[in-house]
Amino acid sequence: MINYGRQDINQADIDAVAEVLRSDFLTQGPVVPEFERAVASYCGASHAVSANSATGALHMACLALGVGKGDIVWTTPITFVASANCALYCGAEVDFVDIDPRTYGMSVDRLSEKLVQAKATGRLPKLVIPVHLCGQPCDMAGIHALAVKYGFRVVEDASHAIGGRYKGEPIGNCRYSDITVFSFHPVKIITTGEGGMALTNDDLLAKRLRLFRSHGITSDPKEMDPRPADELWNYQQVELGYNYRMTDISAALGLSQMKRLDEFVTRRHAIAKRYDELLSSLPVITPWQHPDGYSGLHLYVIRLKLYEVKKTNKQVFKSLHAAAILANLHYIPVYRQPYFEKMGFKAGYCKEAEAYFADVLTIPMYPGLTDSEQDLVVAELRAAIEA
Ligand SMILES: *Cc1c(COP(=O)(O)O)cnc(C)c1O
Repeated sequence: MINYGRQDINQADIDAVAEVLRSDFLTQGPVVPEFERAVASYCGASHAVSANSATGALHMACLALGVGKGDIVWTTPITFVASANCALYCGAEVDFVDIDPRTYGMSVDRLSEKLVQAKATGRLPKLVIPVHLCGQPCDMAGIHALAVKYGFRVVEDASHAIGGRYKGEPIGNCRYSDITVFSFHPVKIITTGEGGMALTNDDLLAKRLRLFRSHGITSDPKEMDPRPADELWNYQQVELGYNYRMTDISAALGLSQMKRLDEFVTRRHAIAKRYDELLSSLPVITPWQHPDGYSGLHLYVIRLKLYEVKKTNKQVFKSLHAAAILANLHYIPVYRQPYFEKMGFKAGYCKEAEAYFADVLTIPMYPGLTDSEQDLVVAELRAAIEA
């Protein structure tokens, strides 16, 4: 079986986790802040706030930015549902901006058009969440310019993108956003089992992220309500928060994986280059890389040239699965999910996203993928297309 993605765990990772298991603290110990400092320093951000998942980190990010009932949040339809759900958790409304036909990330042209309309109807978003799909950064300078013009906040969903760069700088430095979120799910670039992180350069946002991560509880006297001096108030709950904390067990794995982050991304690029060459004789479109970005290459997505291929992506998907190659689809447009259709979204809402959904396929991509496995994937893909 060859999955579309998988973790790469070595002996040093195992030893780092075992060391925590033998230590005093399995959670809320010293390794979590150590991992946070390592990621903040790698990315060049002032603060990194770990979480139990990217989903938790996205929710914390929305809360820290004050997203609530009556607010509107925009994201891309081609993403995992968590990029949209974080807004719904806060009671906000969600809407979608169509994708760029070359990078498949949020289109700045469509965003710009939608903002003109929204301004006219008084329905501007409070927050926009671009997603660095497959690890390729969005046009963040373009999005940032619109954020300044229209006054919305920006959270980068960089769940696919740690280790990548935009205009020569690390994704996660938040130069063009308020907060950047990473995921450490095992299929992503580095893993902590489950886990995520929110980065920011804003001291107050970092404080609020930490507050919402842990029940809305603070032990900083400056943040507490005044209470009688003879009562013991070593902490206070001042907001409604959650338990979104990462364990030290997870953080130890993450900290150990950080040492190989650049190696992982380099290996992903080598695999992608080999796919680009092997697939050049097949009727498929290989991923286009914008010169402004250096992708983390979490995913390798191809698009079938449906005018040359007599098969649907569903048929090719099924043939590959029959050959134990677990291709995938990243992603079904979020608004096509039954839960979102019940909110009133209709098929056809975003044209480019729907075209993408009809012909896209994710083929296996992870550092441990061998040349012979890759050759097998290409051979099975060829057979599936030509059958
Ligand atoms: C994986 C992923 C998430 C959620 O990450 P978890 O850590 O599993 O919660 C959110 N957004 C995108 C784009 C993802 O790929």
